[in-house]
Amino acid sequence: MEKALQNLIERLERERSLSEAEYARLIADRRPEAASLLAEKAVAARNRIYGSAVFIRGLIEISNFCKNDCLYCGIRRSNRDCVRYRLTEEEIAACAREGYALGFRTFVLQGGEDGYYTDERLCSIVARLKREHPDCAVTLSMGERERDSYQRLFDAGADRYLLRHETADREHYSRLHPPEMSFDHRMACLRDLREIGYQVGCGFMVGSPYQTPETLAKDLKFIERFKPDMCGIGPFVPHHGTPFKDMPAGTAELTCYLLSIIRLIHPPVLLPATTALGTVDPAGREKGISAGANVVMPNLSPVAVRKQYELYDNKLCTGEESAQCRDCLDARVRSVGCTLVIARGDIKQEL
Ligand code: SAM
Repeated sequence: MEKALQNLIERLERERSLSEAEYARLIADRRPEAASLLAEKAVAARNRIYGSAVFIRGLIEISNFCKNDCLYCGIRRSNRDCVRYRLTEEEIAACAREGYALGFRTFVLQGGEDGYYTDERLCSIVARLKREHPDCAVTLSMGERERDSYQRLFDAGADRYLLRHETADREHYSRLHPPEMSFDHRMACLRDLREIGYQVGCGFMVGSPYQTPETLAKDLKFIERFKPDMCGIGPFVPHHGTPFKDMPAGTAELTCYLLSIIRLIHPPVLLPATTALGTVDPAGREKGISAGANVVMPNLSPVAVRKQYELYDNKLCTGEESAQCRDCLDARVRSVGCTLVIARGDIKQEL
């Protein structure tokens, strides 16, 4: 491997920081040997903190109604072909009960920005899940809301919030979103969530249209500064009903490379091997874990609605029962020397 690249990787491991130009270079000049070295160091950093444990989160996709029009997303409001649904409190509680019996100790409620889920309704759902499963964490991923609303949901018992920043480059953000959506507001939401006391997740798509090594370098600098508790990165996958339908998908190769870099920047971070990674490569999730990921998020949504939560084409696991998804992931995780554990899986600080 080129000596300069090896030096960058060794310095990243030691200092957990590179300049923006160095990150861009590490990405633009990447080679398979650099990926192997990064993965080896990332797995060692993960194992130092978490051992061989991989955490599972039960994903409940509560609504595909969305007021937003993100150019990449299959549930954007302009997609008239999307058949919309939303789950009732009763249905969500039933998904969680099934998940609990299968060993899930974190429930992630995700949805489009759907005005039906007022603070009152969402707080009631969160409080119920916490009442019925006091040993579980509730994670929300319901998009941008007012600070007040985040506070109420936290007071109702929500533990964590996932809000991908999508890109840390303002100009890039404006090419992925319609003009009414604001980069500053998204970043302000992340700061509010952190200040309120949530465990917070940011993240971005890999290979999104107009992304460059330079915009990715900004994402990495943002992660360095923000030190998220979780970081969701997965390849962009085009959806046939969006303006980006003919754009190429992101690759598993670059996603895994970035997973390793992010693990080295912030070793305690909880990093999922995403469903999108498994969609672009049948062995994507195993490769993600071998690159330093330590979370998987199987689907707990009712099978009847799974196909309708179609963010991108060919999404995996839309036909399987929750138990099948859990068992399949269990085998995949074991095949790369890790173990799925029954635990909330909170972030661990380094000793
Ligand atoms: N509405 C909430 C929000 O904005 O955070 C949560 C739901 S949103 C659909 C969840 C994530 O899906 C987004 O943050 C985005 O990164 C990802 N996503 C959307 N469309 C995608 C696509 N075509 N390929 C890969 N990921 C996609």
